[in-house]
Amino acid sequence: MTHKKITRLPKDPGPAAWNQIIEPEAGYDSISKDIEADWAIVGGGWAGLAAARRLSQLLPSDEKIVVLEAKRLAEGPAGRNSGFMIDLPHDLNSDTYAGSNESDLKQIKLNRHAIDFAEAAANEYGMPKAVFSRKGKITAASTEQGIEHIESYSKHLIDIGEAFSFKSAEEMLDITGSNFYIKGLQTEGGAMVQPAAFIRALGKGLSGRVEIYENSPVIELKTGTPHVLSTPAGKVKARNIILAVNGHIQSFGFYPKRLLHVFTFASMTRKLTPSELKVLGGQSDWGILPADPMGTTVRKISNYSGSGDRIIIRNLATLNQSLEAPAADMRRAKAMQDKSFDARFPMLKGVEMEHRWGGRLCLSMNSMPAFGELEDRVWSACCQNGLGTVKGTLSGIAAAELAVLGSSDLLTDFLDHQAPSKLPPEPFLSLGANMTMRWKQWQAGKEL
Ligand SMILES: Cc1cc2nc3c(=O)[nH]c(=O)nc-3n(C[C@H](O)[C@H](O)[C@H](O)COP(=O)(O)OP(=O)(O)OC[C@H]3O[C@@H](n4cnc5c(N)ncnc54)[C@H](O)[C@@H]3O)c2cc1C
Repeated sequence: MTHKKITRLPKDPGPAAWNQIIEPEAGYDSISKDIEADWAIVGGGWAGLAAARRLSQLLPSDEKIVVLEAKRLAEGPAGRNSGFMIDLPHDLNSDTYAGSNESDLKQIKLNRHAIDFAEAAANEYGMPKAVFSRKGKITAASTEQGIEHIESYSKHLIDIGEAFSFKSAEEMLDITGSNFYIKGLQTEGGAMVQPAAFIRALGKGLSGRVEIYENSPVIELKTGTPHVLSTPAGKVKARNIILAVNGHIQSFGFYPKRLLHVFTFASMTRKLTPSELKVLGGQSDWGILPADPMGTTVRKISNYSGSGDRIIIRNLATLNQSLEAPAADMRRAKAMQDKSFDARFPMLKGVEMEHRWGGRLCLSMNSMPAFGELEDRVWSACCQNGLGTVKGTLSGIAAAELAVLGSSDLLTDFLDHQAPSKLPPEPFLSLGANMTMRWKQWQAGKEL
């Protein structure tokens, strides 16, 4: 039995820009009185909403499902990311994203299951291509060292039977309008999303079947029969709970000293003018992942729902075991991102960044999720190890299937993992990890 007061609530630095640039929407009520539910999902991100959708497919319609979100949907990391749903190996602990052949093949199958699930939701809820589109990704290099990375990655793709094509410097220029990239590696099979618009549309699509409560942080958990979740203005009594709060599972008292809380940061330009777009050239919408995992991710988006055409730059990773990022990290990110933007887009000199923000990821030392039944009828679908749009979706589906079905084809593959391993003690962990990340960022050199 757990009785835990949750004192640490999510804090995300800066605005949720992807959410701010599209038409505002009426939100969902917060919990204002005591209610009862069959299923309570805590967290309205990728994992929480996937769990809600899968439960709604598996359960009879009279079973009540509620989602409790501390903030508004798409305000947290779910709506702050770069929107790459990647099917292929994307191990952030590896220099080239690749892992072992056997584990990568299993992960690809699982990742594609999650992307198919997201695509089915996108189709069912009528999301346009600007919100979800099934298209590949380009990993691009701007240095000889970067080329070595993508060539080594391409050999791994050959080993595991995955198709790819190389892009020349001229082709990269045609796509991006920038002559920064000297070689690219294109793969098909992933998806690109406008993360905030996707999360909002998913919530809206589910809301006929699932009760969503925003601004309803869970501040106390008492497990039992029933479990009781307290929010500031009302309690939820539920037979079943799925905790889908990513790294904040630790704030609920679970997985102590096993989770790494990494922040990464992004900047978004103001709307580009027609003359700036003309000077830039290239295609209207594209996304580039860096050849070096510590490099810079860039996206260019065209107007959708009033967003305008903009460029988004993401880099810098810092470990903050307090689950909060200090202002100094935001300042460092600003300096790095301005430099990265200028290096890629000298023709857009003087274009200001309108939004700057950061967000949390949860990683474990052995890249394992914090997943499974924690106590009787309390499940965790947390710690997505970076690729949370996909792995969050996957863990939400898997938690629902484990809770309702007990076994499934997906679970046979998904449950084949260990628990997150124990972390080294502080201050060695934070000092060591931040120094290593700084070193790797420095080594990434011009790829930043
Ligand atoms: C700048 C940036 C770029 C990124 N780019 C990518 C990318 O391109 N592709 C990719 O796959 N991933 C990317 N990520 C990572 C991805 O966003 C996360 O891994 C993903 O959001 C995790 O999904 P989740 O549902 O597990 O957790 P979250 O999205 O964090 O959702 C958990 C929710 O739980 C809520 N919560 C926490 N505590 C409580 C509580 N006590 N009560 C109620 N609710 C609570 C939070 O408010 C939050 O909304 C990026 C992240 C950042 C910050």
